[in-house]
Amino acid sequence: MLETDYDVVIVGGGPAGMTAGLYASRARLKSLMLEKMIMGGQMMTTTLVENWPGFPGGIEGPELMMRFQEHCVEFGLETAYGSVDKIINNGDTKTLIVDGKEITTKAIIIATGVVARKLGIEGEEALVGKGVSYCATCDGAFFRDVPIAVIGGGDTAAEEALYLTRFASKVTLVHRRDQLRATKILQDRIRANEKIEMAWNSVVEKFESDNSGLTGAVLRDMKTGETRTIDIQGMFVAVGVTPTTSFVADLLELNEDGYIKSGEDTLTSVPGIYAAGDCRTTVLKQVSTAVGDGAVAAVMAEKYIDELDHQV
Ligand SMILES: Cc1cc2nc3c(=O)[nH]c(=O)nc-3n(C[C@H](O)[C@H](O)[C@H](O)COP(=O)(O)OP(=O)(O)OC[C@H]3O[C@@H](n4cnc5c(N)ncnc54)[C@H](O)[C@@H]3O)c2cc1C
Repeated sequence: MLETDYDVVIVGGGPAGMTAGLYASRARLKSLMLEKMIMGGQMMTTTLVENWPGFPGGIEGPELMMRFQEHCVEFGLETAYGSVDKIINNGDTKTLIVDGKEITTKAIIIATGVVARKLGIEGEEALVGKGVSYCATCDGAFFRDVPIAVIGGGDTAAEEALYLTRFASKVTLVHRRDQLRATKILQDRIRANEKIEMAWNSVVEKFESDNSGLTGAVLRDMKTGETRTIDIQGMFVAVGVTPTTSFVADLLELNEDGYIKSGEDTLTSVPGIYAAGDCRTTVLKQVSTAVGDGAVAAVMAEKYIDELDHQV
């Protein structure tokens, strides 16, 4: 039998990673889950989750993830904070470089999810924490009784705009098209909310700021080319996501957007390495699909390790 620190190491402590950890440790594999920021992943940045089955009326994202975490360690999963910076494929064993230290394992499940995409406008970095944010749940309460804007047109942008009406005096939802991509129920809620004003066919061209932070944004109408300035003290950017896969870019096959190429069997281009959840090529990025992937990846890893341990 091969000697390694672990049978399986799971990279990422979101819904996919936690489910993989639950299944792997319950299958009596010596398992470790590594998380670089906050156990629970993206769900820790949201409020009510209404589409996770079993909770009529919904459940708060952080509470759901607290329950996931309690459950996933029940069968002996080890969890630790650490950033996986590199993975070395030695064939039957793999080495993870975690904050400069080496961990060896037989199989790896990558469940590193996605992060919010930036607008890419000059001055954006400097205004983070001074008006520009990528997380309404984290920063919304800082913007009481002041006008703000949300940029985007999908579910996340719609959810953030609705949530932010709890605090802000007015929310301008800036979208580059003339209709939202968000699901119908969210579109109806947006329309019914008097605090939300739509800026259709518009993009942010420039930030305006003073020493205290963001004071406004110049919007450009994509149809007419006209520009106008809106006075805002907060801007929440929800224009899509980027997969957290750069640390495996030279090891695994990625698609043109950076997602790990993998089917529903979670297999990647390297035997013994599996991809689960938002970081892989998948048609739907939700908790339910991440959980399904986590379960499949752990079972695939279990089979792989079994064959590895019994090869002649
Ligand atoms: C505001 C918001 C609202 C949402 N609302 C809903 C909803 O209502 N219903 C729903 O089903 N889904 C919702 N989603 C989507 C859902 O959160 C994701 O689909 C789900 O979290 C994906 O899980 P995951 O485990 O694949 O990735 P993530 O949740 O992204 O977790 C990945 C984890 O990996 C960690 N990580 C990354 N790189 C490394 C590394 N190198 N080393 C160690 N750790 C690493 C990250 O820090 C992160 O914690 C929402 C998302 C957002 C942002």
